[in-house]
Amino acid sequence: MRKKIIAANWKMNMTIGETEAFFGTFLRELGDERKVEVVIVPPFLAIAKASELLRSAQGVKLGAQNMHWEKPGAFTGEVCAAMLRDVFCNYVVLGHSERRTYFGETDAIVNKKVLAAHANTLRPILCIGETLAERDGGLVEKVLDTQIRGSMAGLTAEQVEETVIAYEPVWAIGTGRTATPQQAQDAHAFIRKTVAEIWGQAAADKVRIQYGGSVKPANTAELMSQPDIDGALVGGASLDPRGFAEIVHNTARVLG
Ligand code: PEP
Repeated sequence: MRKKIIAANWKMNMTIGETEAFFGTFLRELGDERKVEVVIVPPFLAIAKASELLRSAQGVKLGAQNMHWEKPGAFTGEVCAAMLRDVFCNYVVLGHSERRTYFGETDAIVNKKVLAAHANTLRPILCIGETLAERDGGLVEKVLDTQIRGSMAGLTAEQVEETVIAYEPVWAIGTGRTATPQQAQDAHAFIRKTVAEIWGQAAADKVRIQYGGSVKPANTAELMSQPDIDGALVGGASLDPRGFAEIVHNTARVLG
């Protein structure tokens, strides 16, 4: 049984003060809900404060939005895995489409980061997904296959089981346009089949695949009811502590 995982990608939002205010409301709204794994992914500067605020909130985990693959050293402006471990991150989002589009991250670059994350016992939340032009051109499976093979090259089956794959169709991110539950399920089933082909059925059965793209409280239950959807990576809607808690509760309700 794969535990559903809901992650809040705050992107370039939230000061330290706003982070404190968020947790004040969010933890109260979340209550003792622990059926669903919750991960908060603040911007770098707010992680240490979030870590401090979460110390007493067992079960809510922390992630970062990016990292460099190198060990500590002369890489001005970068952050490495050891620094993320130091502030108690368990997860790191890698290969987000905004990083691929605005910062030129290729599958080869993402792959170095994925390998470095595992080497430092950080779990990658690896983002993949097609653009609208690729979907319209009938290229969804080809794009996903290329991104899986490129970004996850060299991983062992055990490392794949510890990886979270986030299927995020680029056309659905921040647009208010969500993939239909069937479109998302079809993509997730394809991703799982591809993982099975490369790393075996056991790894495919264990790897968790999140959906991301305009998830909100109202569409959570239907998406999370799909057999191959194991959670959500939530952008815009995760900035509202009440709405994000509702997304978690709506996911838990699907589990019965
Ligand atoms: C994201 O950026 O990972 C995302 C899914 O954003 P949004 O929920 O705003 O579409």
